Amino acid sequence: MIVKALWARLGMATLLPVTLVTMTLTPIFTSHLDNQIDSKRLATEAILTSEYDKLLQGMNESFNQILAISEYPMLRRFLESQVASQPPERDTETQQDWRQLESLFETLLTHFGRYTRMAVIDSHGQEWVNTTQALLLPRPRVIDHDANPAFQRAMALKPRDLYISSPRLGATREDGSPARPVIDIAAPIFDHQGERLGVLLFTLDWSRITASLSRVSLEEGARVLMVDAQGRSLLPEGDGGVKDRFGHSLASEWPAIWATMAPNQQGVITLEEHLLGLRTHDIRTHHYRSQAVTIVSDAETQPWHLGILTPRPSLMSQLIKTPTQLLAIVLVYLLSVAFGIFWVLNEHRLRGLRQRALAFSRKAYQYAGEVQDLYEHAPCGYHSLDSDGRVIKINLTELDWLGYRGDEVIGKRYYRDFVTAETRAAFDAAFHQVLGQGKEGSAECELLRRDGSHLPVAIKATAHVTEDGFQYSRAMVFDLSERKNLEMRLERQALTDPLTGLGNRRYLENQAAMEIARAERNGAPLALIAIDLDHFKRINDAHGHDVGDLVLQSFANTAQQQLRAGDVLCRMGGEEFVVLLPDTSRDQALLIAQRLREAIAATPVEVGHLAPESGTLAYSASLGVTLVSAGEKTLRPAIKRADQGLYAAKEAGRNRVEWEEA
Ligand code: GH3
Ligand code: MG
Ligand code: MG
Repeated sequence: MIVKALWARLGMATLLPVTLVTMTLTPIFTSHLDNQIDSKRLATEAILTSEYDKLLQGMNESFNQILAISEYPMLRRFLESQVASQPPERDTETQQDWRQLESLFETLLTHFGRYTRMAVIDSHGQEWVNTTQALLLPRPRVIDHDANPAFQRAMALKPRDLYISSPRLGATREDGSPARPVIDIAAPIFDHQGERLGVLLFTLDWSRITASLSRVSLEEGARVLMVDAQGRSLLPEGDGGVKDRFGHSLASEWPAIWATMAPNQQGVITLEEHLLGLRTHDIRTHHYRSQAVTIVSDAETQPWHLGILTPRPSLMSQLIKTPTQLLAIVLVYLLSVAFGIFWVLNEHRLRGLRQRALAFSRKAYQYAGEVQDLYEHAPCGYHSLDSDGRVIKINLTELDWLGYRGDEVIGKRYYRDFVTAETRAAFDAAFHQVLGQGKEGSAECELLRRDGSHLPVAIKATAHVTEDGFQYSRAMVFDLSERKNLEMRLERQALTDPLTGLGNRRYLENQAAMEIARAERNGAPLALIAIDLDHFKRINDAHGHDVGDLVLQSFANTAQQQLRAGDVLCRMGGEEFVVLLPDTSRDQALLIAQRLREAIAATPVEVGHLAPESGTLAYSASLGVTLVSAGEKTLRPAIKRADQGLYAAKEAGRNRVEWEEA
């Protein structure tokens, strides 16, 4: 998908610059091209006008020459004499005229070069003078000119009229060289009375007349065209191609050009591939500056069309002509496309980078959230304090413990204020260590919650120090309440007899230390009773150990009921118990002992089906009573005395109380 989009963008990156460059360059080149076409049009027009003038000037010169000679008196005289002396005879004067005419013609021939033949023909069609370039005939040959169209047409003309043939191929030369195009100009000859004497016929080398046209220097691919009204080429020498060979039909070979030339008089016409400059000349109506009255010609060949065909400048031809320009344009296109592609690729790369950065930042954000969540809801408290001990950061767990909101604490409260007065010293010491060299400290203390309750915690803190020194302390706070509870439970268990729930020997020792101290402080008496169940072995033996256990538990209950809250009843082991009676005198102790003994004897144990008879089991106990003497630091001597009292009670028959004096 991404690759497809990239290809599409690369396509755009190529198309867009190409379009932009083309849009920018096109008007420049179009106007440049238009200028080129305009200047070519002007140049074509100028050449055409100049060539047209030269052609007509050349023709005109010949027109005037033939007109002048046709009115030459010597020529008239010569013809008059020839007509008069039928059959022809040559008197001396005529011979002289003939010679003079011939030398005149010879002069014209050699001087002007354009004439190939000059002939004087009488009205009967007989030729009296005929001079050719090739050779001068020694004597006049009489040729029948009846069939000559030029002669025929000229014979019908009025004075100062001219007949112009259309250019035609001349006679094949004797030396074998190809026949050259020629044009005939014929003028009628009249005597003084206006009597028609004959015709003066000049044949002109057409290539001389059109020499300038053939020599026009044109750019490559350009050519001069000259055709008659039928579209036949009138140029004696083309470039060798079929299209402009003399007499060849341009109309059939190049119909498109002919179609443009034929109907137009003059101007420069823009064709698809060419510029065609043209001038049309009808020799019959446009005399130019000749002295002829009327010029007659063959209707189907007039007018003549003179044209210059040049290749029309095109963008391609311009570019090919100037390779540097072409190279510059190619470079502009390449650079713009390269820029477009570079831009797209760069954009594509940046987009990839942006997407990766976005994914990365999303991940980082998510990770930060997770870390924040871990921080806020960790199973321990976290807080940071500034160097004054003010809270600058604290997590939700710890805030929950304390019962405050963050905005009530952060930046406002000193942490030591949340520490109970009893444990504040430990906290202060630890915080001092964090601030000091150690950079870390720990303390066990109790936090003061909003509701007034205490929370035992362990705080472990380290200092965050940078090169600028101490920044803040960060501490982990562990809730110790569970541990403390467990410790207390274990402690209690260690001091408790599991069967009866009474304190054990260790408990008694603990209590004894306190009670001895207190009794000593207060000067109060402290009594001690030792109790041993009677014939307990028998109970076990008779009813089983479980019943024995029930008896022990029942004893504990019964005895406890008889004692005060401050009295300490402990199981010393087996079926032996001790009662420590604070603030109790000898008599009071004896009374209590008796009360105990009676209560025991009066409270048989409910054993249910375990006892065969009534479901209850009666038992008794023997008790020894003594006082803890002043100066005794432990209970040991008092216990010893109480035991002695106990033995005495056993000895005396059991279920008794005996006093043992210190
Ligand atoms: P006397 O009247 O002389 O005290 O006789 P006695 O049988 O009570 O004394 P003795 O010391 O010979 O027997 C104590 C018996 O107590 C022995 C022991 O099996 C039993 N005993 C000790 N601890 C327990 C106990 O936790 N449960 C039960 N069921 N019996 C116990
Ligand atoms: Mg015993
Ligand atoms: Mg016993």
